[in-house]
Amino acid sequence: MKLESLALHHGYESEQTTKSAAVPIYQTTSYTFDDTQHGADLFDLKVPGNIYTRIMNPTTAVLEQRVTAMEGGVGALAMASGMAAITASIQCLCEVGTNIISTSQLYGGTYNLFAHTFPRQGIEVRMLSHDDFDGLEKAIDDNTRGIFCESIGNPAGNIVDIQKLSDIAHRHGLPLIVDNTVATPYLCKPFELGADIVVHSLTKYIGGHGVALGGIIVDSGKFDWKANASRFAVLNDPDPSYHGVSYTEAFAEAAFIGRCRVVPLRNTGAAISPHNAFLILQGLETLGLRMERHCENANALAEFLAAHPKVTKVNYAARSDSPYFETCQKISGGQASGILSFEIDGGQEAGSKFIDSLQMILRLVNIGDAKSLACHPASTTHRQLNSGELAAAGVSESLVRISVGIEHIEDIIADVRQALEQV
Ligand SMILES: *Cc1c(COP(=O)(O)O)cnc(C)c1O
Repeated sequence: MKLESLALHHGYESEQTTKSAAVPIYQTTSYTFDDTQHGADLFDLKVPGNIYTRIMNPTTAVLEQRVTAMEGGVGALAMASGMAAITASIQCLCEVGTNIISTSQLYGGTYNLFAHTFPRQGIEVRMLSHDDFDGLEKAIDDNTRGIFCESIGNPAGNIVDIQKLSDIAHRHGLPLIVDNTVATPYLCKPFELGADIVVHSLTKYIGGHGVALGGIIVDSGKFDWKANASRFAVLNDPDPSYHGVSYTEAFAEAAFIGRCRVVPLRNTGAAISPHNAFLILQGLETLGLRMERHCENANALAEFLAAHPKVTKVNYAARSDSPYFETCQKISGGQASGILSFEIDGGQEAGSKFIDSLQMILRLVNIGDAKSLACHPASTTHRQLNSGELAAAGVSESLVRISVGIEHIEDIIADVRQALEQV
């Protein structure tokens, strides 16, 4: 099936007992064992089945299978939030003394995790600009465990050449992890461009309605963890925390996502609630339709802003004047999703005045909601960054970011026009 149909059908057939057409919410913490042998077999992974909702849940499993199919992977793990998914994907590969390489144009929460939290736990993150391919490659050493990037950077809107980055990663026997939150599988399929692992904040476009937090890790199943058995000893050697299992032997091509579930998720506990998994499934059903409208509206708004005398700069990669135009054609067929940013003549003050004058567009820091949202990254999401870090993250002090919603385009433009008049 194509993406639009997978989003509606994959991973669920009317449940046997009730014939429920919608995916049921399995609001339970635990699952009964037929007898002690059944329980033992479940714990030994000899038979498939549910044990405890921190580790797995049938509602969540539908979400996982659906996103797996839409990204074209072999398995996925849903978690409590996008940050939980990013953290677990790296904790699954890294230990004290190891490092990862990352592009520096990142979501603010990811930037803080990489710049401040991981280093205090002994995992170093070497961040370089997404187009500094030489620098990114030179930063790799024997302790590197992977390369991380966002397909479309939030909030800078920069587009990463996933193919080039995966070539570099694979030359050094490393996996490429791509945060595909802003692009979604509807616009970009990182696995087809050579990525090995995809992470998402489901909170954004996939959920689409701003009602539930969630995150997911998807495994392409293509990375050969055995080829460099000492670098990826955590996936190859017997694991005492899971009765001596070798993940590459027990889970074969799904070794990485299997370990994500039984180590970072099971042992640190950032499980998604089944109710949130259900809400996110409702959003996922209309992802294709919404992404079409998000892109169409963002294009039209970018056009309006570019022609406005008070606007000094518009960042939207689908426009031919964008430095990311070519890469956008390459990774997402020229579609740049629903987020654009722009600068207003007058710096920080003009930016705040604009934001404060909006009437329909909501002032908040989320993205990917069906409603249009506006924020000023330098005073909110990226507030903890100093001016050097801001520049590296691609955030100027006057930058306004709009997550363009699916309202009628004339209403969106009318609100932006009147707010610019107040500046
Ligand atoms: C929001 C976001 C995250 C974090 O997701 P949460 O669900 O808020 O934890 C990660 N990456 C990107 C690109 C995001 O936009």
